Amino acid sequence: MVADYTSRIAQVAKSLAKTQSEAIFITPGADLRYLTGYDALPLERLTCLAIRSDGRSWMIVPTLEKPSAVAHGVPELGIELLDWQETQNAYKILLGEVGKPKNPLVNNLMWVEKAFGIRNELGVEVSLAGKLLSDIREIKSPQEVAHLHEAGRAIDEVHSNMGLWLRPGRTEREVGRDIAEAILASGHVKVDFVIVASGPNGASPHHELSDRVIEAGEPVVVDIGGTMPSGYCSDCTRMYVCGEPPVEYLAHYEVLLAAQEAARRHAKPGVSCESVDSAAREVLVAGGLGEAFIHRTGHGIGMETHEEPYIVAGNSSLLELGHAFSIEPGFYFEGQYGARIEDIVTCTTNGILSANNTSRDLVIL
Ligand code: ZN
Ligand code: ZN
Repeated sequence: MVADYTSRIAQVAKSLAKTQSEAIFITPGADLRYLTGYDALPLERLTCLAIRSDGRSWMIVPTLEKPSAVAHGVPELGIELLDWQETQNAYKILLGEVGKPKNPLVNNLMWVEKAFGIRNELGVEVSLAGKLLSDIREIKSPQEVAHLHEAGRAIDEVHSNMGLWLRPGRTEREVGRDIAEAILASGHVKVDFVIVASGPNGASPHHELSDRVIEAGEPVVVDIGGTMPSGYCSDCTRMYVCGEPPVEYLAHYEVLLAAQEAARRHAKPGVSCESVDSAAREVLVAGGLGEAFIHRTGHGIGMETHEEPYIVAGNSSLLELGHAFSIEPGFYFEGQYGARIEDIVTCTTNGILSANNTSRDLVIL
């Protein structure tokens, strides 16, 4: 793993060297964990990695966090580890070592407070890293792909046991609590989200849980995900109904199933992200559900549930070997119901491999 991290840091330096920027600053979050393996929590005290385009790197941590940074092997990566005590100016110490790089960049999800701290100490504006880091992170190594498939198997296990928890007469929250426990029992270390959206609540794509009692015959959207010990995330939606769903719902569902399949068949290296969105959308439009499909077809996934590449109209970038993303068309009718079918897939040399493999049919419980 040390070799993975050092080569990722070297890649960042190489990408920087192609720009007008001489350094990038990265605070805790998925970017930092990807580059160093250090999953430090984003806190008010400054922890920050700095990489210069010549390949040199530093990390400053609060003195009380130093044992944790050492335990995560930060010094073994060739990163110079600095620490600061409560009454010291962390920015001054870090920039005293890094110097005054031209056009400094900060990672996109850095807290504004930290970005302003760097800007104020340097006395120059900082800019967003933009795609500099995501261009690297979105191409998954075979090891990362394996981690995503492992996460997929774990969340599949939860979906395949849904009949244990999802019953008429129970509230979404009661069912959601059981699902959250099962997400952890299946090997995840963290529950990222649990959506149990019954009947009309299904029409809101990001409805989470409520005290609504689930009734027989109501379609229920179950979209769940968590983070594995590897740091990689799962995200999978399946549709359930206890008893008989409305007849027209079944007809809509057939269209959705065909749309999701069309996108899975179309996706492969060399086709554009937006064409995967169109592949699903065209089927929904032809089936009269175009207006009811109110979001993009998918998002990349890795150490974050939502990251590049986005499977959306306007994204003409081409899929490549190592890309990992969701295919999740849906339909939503306010006041009535909704539906979504979602798989995480990874690009192989000539197609895609699905990380989720439970039946995509409407599951009748
Ligand atoms: Zn998703
Ligand atoms: Zn999802």
